[in-house]
Amino acid sequence: MKILIVEDEPKTGDYLKQGLSEAGFVADLARDGVEGRHAALHDDYDLVVLDVMLPGLDGWQVLRSIRAAGKQVPVLFLTARDQVEDRVRGLEEGADDYLVKPFAFSELLARVRTLLRRGKAREASCLRAADLEVDLLRRRVTRAGRRVELTAKEFALLELLLRRQGEILPRSLIASQVWDMNFDSDTNVIEVAVRRLRAKIDDDFEPKLIRTVRGMGYLLEAPEPS
Ligand code: CA
Repeated sequence: MKILIVEDEPKTGDYLKQGLSEAGFVADLARDGVEGRHAALHDDYDLVVLDVMLPGLDGWQVLRSIRAAGKQVPVLFLTARDQVEDRVRGLEEGADDYLVKPFAFSELLARVRTLLRRGKAREASCLRAADLEVDLLRRRVTRAGRRVELTAKEFALLELLLRRQGEILPRSLIASQVWDMNFDSDTNVIEVAVRRLRAKIDDDFEPKLIRTVRGMGYLLEAPEPS
């Protein structure tokens, strides 16, 4: 389990790194927001412990970048006691939990373990392509960290496309799986649903994920990052 700590106070940073290492985690320490964002975006962590007040980029900006890149890594915010509003804002912006400074290390460790467990459970119930994420349990869809509202049919269609990523799905298969009907070439119900889904998850974003394969069907695929 790999944890990124973003903390500018040298004593706190060293203390967290040492404590988490002793508890059996691989812990990396970034000492400002720029370094922290770079590490969070370019490496795979199971958890980020993120101080709010940081030089360069603050914790909000780092969190926003992480979510905008489609990374769902759990984030534990560290805030000062007088930043109550910050905590609310943190949770709204996609932090998973917060801890008020000063805190006991045992408290931090307990939160870290809870978040890691929760992260694993979420991992298993999520489908992803690029920065599109579908949470099957909560039936929540986000693209680039932005919430997308889908109808039940659009959700079922997206789930099917995501489960069979990279495969061309014939209209007949989509019709039977999503609409529970035999494909009738006179109906354009699938075309309409695909168009609506694209308008919600692709039109305002890059890269485009849903492709039409002429005469064959549809395909959802995330291009290889270049
Ligand atoms: Ca700080």
